[in-house]
Order: sequence, then C-alpha cells, then structure tokens
Amino acid sequence: MSPDAVYDLAIIGGGPTGLTAAIYAARAALKTLVLEKSVPGGQISATMTVENYPGFPEITGAELGERFHEHARKFGAEIRTATVESLHWEGYVHIVTDGGETFARSALIATGASHRRLGVPGEATYYGRGVSNCATCDGFFYRDKDVVVVGGGDAAVEEGTFLTRFARKVTVIHRRDALRAQKILQQRAFDNPKMAFVWNSVVEEVLGDGERVTSVKVKNIITGEESVIPTDGVFVYVGMVPNTGFLKGILELDEQGFIKADCCYRTSMPGVFTAGDVRSGSWRQVIAVAAEGALAVREIEFYLAEEHLEEPDLLWARRRGSKGSMV
Ligand code: NAP
Repeated sequence: MSPDAVYDLAIIGGGPTGLTAAIYAARAALKTLVLEKSVPGGQISATMTVENYPGFPEITGAELGERFHEHARKFGAEIRTATVESLHWEGYVHIVTDGGETFARSALIATGASHRRLGVPGEATYYGRGVSNCATCDGFFYRDKDVVVVGGGDAAVEEGTFLTRFARKVTVIHRRDALRAQKILQQRAFDNPKMAFVWNSVVEEVLGDGERVTSVKVKNIITGEESVIPTDGVFVYVGMVPNTGFLKGILELDEQGFIKADCCYRTSMPGVFTAGDVRSGSWRQVIAVAAEGALAVREIEFYLAEEHLEEPDLLWARRRGSKGSMV
C-alpha cells in the first residue's frame, strides 16, 4: 500500500456531524475522505424547516444540508459515494465498502440514525402508498386530505404542524397524555386549528383498500377501547434507530445499538471514533451533533499526533485508562 493511498481520516457518514468533521479536518490539513452511501446532507435534508441553528432563524433542511456539503468540499475534503460494509484495525483502519477498500490512520463513524418503524400489520404493505416518514417529501400529496401522525416527540409535532399547510386535518396519535416535544413546538401545534390529538393510544394496524391507506385501527391503552380512524396518510415519527448494522460484533454497542464511546469520542476499536446521532448518549439536535463532529476531530488530531502506529494497543489502553471509561 502506498502512503498516498492512506487517508489521515476517513469519515463514514455525510450528515451534519460528518460534514462538520470534514470541514475541521480538511482545515487542519488532514487528508480527509467522507464516505456517504446516498446524498450528502443526511437526515436534516428531509426536514422542511430548521429554526434552531444559530445564524439561520429559518432555513430549509435541504439548504442547510447542501451548505454543509459545499462547505466541506470548499476546504478540500474528498466526498465519495460508497456503502461501508465493515472495518478492521490492522495498525491502520481498513474499511471495506461496496466499491472496494479504503485505508486510513483514523476513522470517524457518523452514520446517524433512521426512522423507527411501528412494526404493525399494514405498515410495510402500504409504505409509499400512504405510509411515510417524510412530510417534506410527501406532504404535498395530501392537499385537502386527512392524515394521522404517530408519535409525540419533536419530529411528530414539527412535521405534523408542517403537514397542516396541505392537509385538511392532522391527527396526532400519541401513546401517552403528554407530548415529549419542545414546549414551543407543542404550543404551536395546540394553537393550530387543523390539529387534533388522540391521547393514550397506539396504532395497532394500518388498513387499506389494497391500493392505498384508508384508515388506522387504534387502541386506547387506558380503557382498552378500539376504534378506526379514517385517514389518507400515516406519518410515522416514533423515534430513531442507529445505523450500526454493519458494526455488530465489530464495535461495542449499547442495548439499543448506538455506539459506545468514551468522553473523547473514542470507540472500542483503536483509531476509530464516533460522533453525532449514532453515538450512545448524543443529544440529537443539529447544532449539537455538528459540534460533536468538530470536537471529535480535535481528539483525532491529538490521536494522530501522539500515537505510534507500531504499538497502538498499549498506547490505546493507557489513554483510555487515563481519560475515562466508555459510556
Ligand atoms: P423521540 O424524541 O425519541 O420521540 C419519539 C416519540 O415517539 C416519543 O413521543 C415516543 O413516546 C414515541 N414512540 C416511541 N416508540 C413508539 C412506539 N413504538 N409506538 C408509539 N409511539 C412511540 O424521536 P424524534 O421525535 O424522532 O426525535 C429524534 C431526535 O431528533 C430528538 O433528539 C429530537 O429532539 C431531535 N429533533 C429535533 C428537532 C428540532 O429541534 N426542531 C426536530 C426533529 C427532531 P414517549 O414520549 O412515550 O416515549
């Protein structure tokens, strides 16, 4: 392997965390590669409006994602479309992708998280035919129609409010009697005359006519009462699952599959760091995960400056012992 073929840092994932890391790494003159399996920008690109990213009181998620992307490219980070299949420590990080192999002195895993599915009958059958996780992409198709949103977090309430631009009525179905979403988002939703709430209830089944969704079967978990709510669309926002399928048996993960890291973003594998939504304990806000990308690069710079690749295990053990345990 020629030294030219080895990157200082390979970043896996091109969302706000990975692209912020790429900006910081490229500006620190690290030979930086970003591996992204689809479009750079990440999950934020599917959010209609972002209004809590400093300096941008209101910006579409797609534009913010594109700005991150352009910013990283401007400073010379190489951004490549590839799906990572596995990685190994061999004195350097050996990354296997669907398109070949990549070698790097360090890696940052910033693969983020994906929408959790409800896992009820009919959800998969009608996915793309009334069931969606993307109000920004699909909201337009529900002009003057009725939709339900499942969940009570920021995503459910924010995207539900967005859907009222198109839909006649948006019914939020939540399993408790209080929302988890930020208060400002809650208040906006409660004040919106097009929004209604079904409390203490879970969706048991998505029903359709064979072509499209027509209703959902709902159960009140306090009374046990079941009902059918007619609807044209079902938007599911019940949290996120980490994109770590390719890391099982390779890195230490928590019970939910998020990557465990110590206080310095280091994972259980030498030279491999993690930050953002995929990290166990991360605060999943765009400003926070972008900042994690920058902070992780600072740690990676320390690592690259201090570690001797001939004896990584020894040094790794010493540093981990002195700088905290995995969370
Ligand atoms: P979340 O905060 O984890 O909320 C998930 C919601 O779905 C909760 O209300 C939860 O109920 C409910 N839920 C979970 N599993 C369920 C199931 N099987 N059936 C029915 N309901 C279920 O997830 P999120 O809203 O997708 O947000 C993810 C992260 O992104 C959060 O950190 C959030 O703050 C962030 N985010 C921020 C913004 C913003 O700042 N504007 C916008 C979107 C997302 P319980 O409440 O009972 O647990």
